[in-house]
Amino acid sequence: MYNEKVLKIFENPKNAGLLKGANGVGKVGNMQCGDVMKVYVLVEHDKIKDAKFKTFGCVSAIASSDVACEMIKGKHLDDALKVTNKDVMEALGGLPPQKVHCSVLAQEAIEAAITDYKKSTEKKKK
Ligand SMILES: [Zn+2]
Repeated sequence: MYNEKVLKIFENPKNAGLLKGANGVGKVGNMQCGDVMKVYVLVEHDKIKDAKFKTFGCVSAIASSDVACEMIKGKHLDDALKVTNKDVMEALGGLPPQKVHCSVLAQEAIEAAITDYKKSTEKKKK
């Protein structure tokens, strides 16, 4: 059902785990296959210095979160927000149609993490 690339990333994700010093966390989930995805970002000067994830879910959810973290690293916040589930799917070499929602989840998790970061910095300014 999955291509080789997806399986490789699933077996050996580069960005799995906790991120020390993370200043943004996004947690999202979906009902379809019960995936829960958490993305941690470390933002410095409006750039994503590092990103990691913790995902409980299916193969494509884990592979999607890994490539999503990889893609946003080093990006400006505005550019990271432009990463879509299509980009994630392309990086994975495609996903089965019934698993497309897992890549959407990765996009949502990035958005949630960046929103969380923005909220917490706004609070500090006040
Ligand atoms: Zn899934």
